[in-house]
Amino acid sequence: MIDLHTHSLFSDGSESPTRVCELALRAGCSTLALSDHDTLDGIPEARVAAERLGIGFIPGCEVSFTLPVLARYAVGHRSAHALVYFLDHHTPLDAELSTVRQGRVARNISMVELLNSHGIEVSYADIIAESGNEESTGRPHIAAVMMQKGYVQSIPEAFDKWLGYGRPAYAHRTSLTAERLTKLAAESGSLVVLAHPLRIGLTKDELAVLVDYLSSIGFTGLEAYYSTYTPDERDSLAKLAANYDMVATGGSDFHGTYKPEISVGTGTGDLDVPDSVLEQLVARHDQPA
Ligand code: AMP
Ligand code: FE
Ligand code: FE
Ligand code: ZN
Repeated sequence: MIDLHTHSLFSDGSESPTRVCELALRAGCSTLALSDHDTLDGIPEARVAAERLGIGFIPGCEVSFTLPVLARYAVGHRSAHALVYFLDHHTPLDAELSTVRQGRVARNISMVELLNSHGIEVSYADIIAESGNEESTGRPHIAAVMMQKGYVQSIPEAFDKWLGYGRPAYAHRTSLTAERLTKLAAESGSLVVLAHPLRIGLTKDELAVLVDYLSSIGFTGLEAYYSTYTPDERDSLAKLAANYDMVATGGSDFHGTYKPEISVGTGTGDLDVPDSVLEQLVARHDQPA
């Protein structure tokens, strides 16, 4: 078993990279990828822990990208998430991540102002205190503070009522285009995979159009084996990947206490991403461009 999608306290997870590695070992994972949002800061610690524990480690991150190809479906400025694997420090994509994190800061300040304008008294300082790192602060941290102050009962409720796309405190942040992301990833020697494809909110036909396009610009895979997907959904995404000669990847999307129902490796209980997925990714990574 492997897990190619996990978050630590270097983004919007609650556990240290070391703890995520320990949980992976305990769950029976042979390899783990750390995929914090927009940062590689947790990678050195995770690499050391994985080596000490004797499990394989893949350095990665998760980034948002825009979907201009779907403009003809009039879906607005929707964005999707990509998982980047085999990404190291001091590469062109790593350098770009610092600009992306600055966009996060501006967006978070706007969202706090919007919440305040609706009478929700959370301060920017509260939210930074929750995350511990201004540049790696995300909406789950804002949601956690709203919950602590009694404005909502749960993190999903904060998204549904206030923080989700189109909700009253939502503010947009600029993301990389898919083209720029794949170009920078290629220059950095890394692979790009579409994360949780069913989260984008597309119909089956729209998703096929998107996957066709992403494969044509250099995406290597899509995340078929995802914690919250049913066996049928996982099968159908694996078939979609195969249709475009892409790798069907998988991971839990572990966030610790920010998504308490998800465990490293096993997801909500039934996730079991086979080691063969890693072999396929390594083969693509070794392929000359
Ligand atoms: P951000 O990157 O700051 O825009 O926050 C996005 C993160 O919020 C995602 O990666 C998820 O971890 C989390 N998230 C997004 N939508 C929801 C939701 N409806 N309920 C709970 N968590 C969510
Ligand atoms: Fe997240
Ligand atoms: Fe995501
Ligand atoms: Zn994630």
